[in-house]
Amino acid sequence: MLQLGYCLSGEANSGRNDVVLKWDGHTHSKFCYHGNPAEQQEYLDRAIELGFARYSVTEHPPLPDRLVDDPQLMRELAMPERELPDYFAYMEEVKTRYEGKLEVAIGLEMDYLCKNESFSDRIVDKWAQRMEDAVVSVHYLPSRGGAIRCIDYTADDFKDAFLGYYGSIDKVVDEYFNHVEMEIEWATPLPMRKRIGHVNLIRKFHKELPEMDQDLIRRRLQGLLPKLKAAGIGVDVNVAGLRVATCEESYVPEWFMKACLEQGIGLVYGSDSHKPEQVGFSYDWFAERARS
Ligand SMILES: [Zn+2]
Ligand SMILES: [Zn+2]
Repeated sequence: MLQLGYCLSGEANSGRNDVVLKWDGHTHSKFCYHGNPAEQQEYLDRAIELGFARYSVTEHPPLPDRLVDDPQLMRELAMPERELPDYFAYMEEVKTRYEGKLEVAIGLEMDYLCKNESFSDRIVDKWAQRMEDAVVSVHYLPSRGGAIRCIDYTADDFKDAFLGYYGSIDKVVDEYFNHVEMEIEWATPLPMRKRIGHVNLIRKFHKELPEMDQDLIRRRLQGLLPKLKAAGIGVDVNVAGLRVATCEESYVPEWFMKACLEQGIGLVYGSDSHKPEQVGFSYDWFAERARS
């Protein structure tokens, strides 16, 4: 398949994979409690100012009760279930208000929840008709006694949760990619446009962790390519890692972007904005690499 331009639409479902479009495909809103209470207008006006044509809102959906053991953290991770209808109603109103100025796509950043897939299934079953985008992400891995812990909370929490339990950083990395593979399988039948979220999120705290085996990461990432291609799932070229001091990398390596382009896997830039000033963050980083 011929790939044109610098921003592939990733619209595998529509067969349109050669659209050049300035698109921020992964963003959050006031419905995120580790984010910012700013109204949507502040995000969207900035996107228009920066010349974006499409803007996907992909909020964290509710999580199963007591998924993680810390009640304070639970409150910050995701909105309570009763707010999900308000989220869709609010975004639908905003979408209408911005028609003709900016295409606002409404979606969710679905979590892959190992052994709890039915929870996410239920959300998708209920809301799929009103979702244009699904970013599908692994944020959680099992730890001691089956307890679920975040991989992206803090470096100290990561060490405490995983290093001792798995025995080595490479075993954590391996298990992370096992979950990404299960996630692709889970996401395959989703009816809306879909992308794998920040595929290398396991690198978030790499500067504070024992060194990761880059060959292992490369092998595991390479192994995802045929699965993504077969499933028609795109890649969220999530640049948030560039603004994290313990990471300073995009969550999608350049060589992986290139491999995706060669194989016709859609790439969509994602700022992962949690506040208005992050909209469009490091878009040039993405555009330069996707063009070349
Ligand atoms: Zn978030
Ligand atoms: Zn995420």
